[in-house]
Amino acid sequence: MARDTGPRCKKCLLIGEKLLLKGERCLSDRCPLHKWTSQEGERKKVSVYSVQLREKQKAKLIYGIMERQFVKYFYQASARDNPGGALVSLLERRLDNVVYRLGFAVSRPAARQLIRHGAIRVNNRKVDIPSYLVKVGDEISVSEKAKERIKSVFTNREISVDWLAGDKDSIKGIVKRMPTEEDIRDVGINPKLIIEFYSK
Ligand code: SF4
Repeated sequence: MARDTGPRCKKCLLIGEKLLLKGERCLSDRCPLHKWTSQEGERKKVSVYSVQLREKQKAKLIYGIMERQFVKYFYQASARDNPGGALVSLLERRLDNVVYRLGFAVSRPAARQLIRHGAIRVNNRKVDIPSYLVKVGDEISVSEKAKERIKSVFTNREISVDWLAGDKDSIKGIVKRMPTEEDIRDVGINPKLIIEFYSK
């Protein structure tokens, strides 16, 4: 599957917001947007279309998804009763996001790399597809070979959502429930604007 490999900081500069694509560096003063955050309120007035477009671009960049895949998610979500919630669920249930959320990797791009290198197991079976969608009850673990490398990252990180649970000793995670719109507050995207953008 095609993937976007452009310089990550440029993507944040394009959107004008921290998208947290480089792990620890994003939280340090080495982030080029470190001093820009205070200027957020100074943006010019923009059209509704621009706001919706920006929200869609932001979500694509944060989750590392190409347009074609994103449009597929939209069609899947728009067939449900709550399209915004369904879109969130599809984005959050991606294995690369889950590996990042569990704290196995410092960023979503790093999580994708781990998965592509065959380091991640779902219910004890190797899954090397970052877009794989997890289900309630799935157990996410790591290969024996990658355990030491991942342990050093995992032990220092907190699980950022409560729809997932993790065990630091065994380096495993479990999907407790389906993610909802409430669970992506930290991501800062409004799925309804994205649905509106594609519905035109
Ligand atoms: Fe670069 Fe991370 Fe800052 Fe974005 S948030 S500009 S990826 S350091």
